[in-house]
Amino acid sequence: MVGSIATAAAAGVAGYTYAAMAPGSQLFGRTIVAGRDPNEFALTFDDGPNDGCTERLLEVLGAHEVRATFFLIGKFVRQRPELARAIHAAGHRVGNHTMSHPWLLLVSPRRVREELAGCNAALEDALGAPVTLMRPPHGARRPDVLRAARQLGLTPVQWNAMGFDWRPGTTAAQIVAHLERGIARNQRRGYGSNLLLHDGGHVALGADRSQSVEAARMVLDRYPAETVRYLTVDAWA
Ligand SMILES: [Zn+2]
Repeated sequence: MVGSIATAAAAGVAGYTYAAMAPGSQLFGRTIVAGRDPNEFALTFDDGPNDGCTERLLEVLGAHEVRATFFLIGKFVRQRPELARAIHAAGHRVGNHTMSHPWLLLVSPRRVREELAGCNAALEDALGAPVTLMRPPHGARRPDVLRAARQLGLTPVQWNAMGFDWRPGTTAAQIVAHLERGIARNQRRGYGSNLLLHDGGHVALGADRSQSVEAARMVLDRYPAETVRYLTVDAWA
């Protein structure tokens, strides 16, 4: 914990220096979305870890030898640290998705810092490794949220293709159709695709995300690793 605070403070200073000095930087606004190669894909999964679904997803990704990025909720990591470790051990990137998944636009700056720092601590305790990526719940961005993230050494990550898999009753085929619309738009514009799916539900452990897991499998079949390059989002930093 002490180590992580010292690391965060050092990273914060470096972040400020970069924002102030680098001509191309956007002051506190720099966020990872995607790169300029339309054949680069990043699969990203939010709201885990989640019993059952996360394990099945790891099997699907492992069978395709693809690495993905998981944005985990701190309170679930505290309850299922072994699942967080399994994700990390399989070679996937793990990022911060706050402690309890609030709308960061609606809470105080102090609560924003607590949510991010709490999740960082949960992840570092579980993984024994530093965390450098974060995705704000619901994508809510605000300058002080981005600043708090940076002070903790976290780079914010968004997405540019959405599966809408949180909508009740959405089938795997519908999720894939949503993603394909996003992929087609990104490819027309000359961007890679940062695909958003969920292996958990932010309200509680145990959400049924079997359709999301199946959608991920379908995407990997439709866009095999021979035709597109799967990477983790930090490759676009
Ligand atoms: Zn979320």
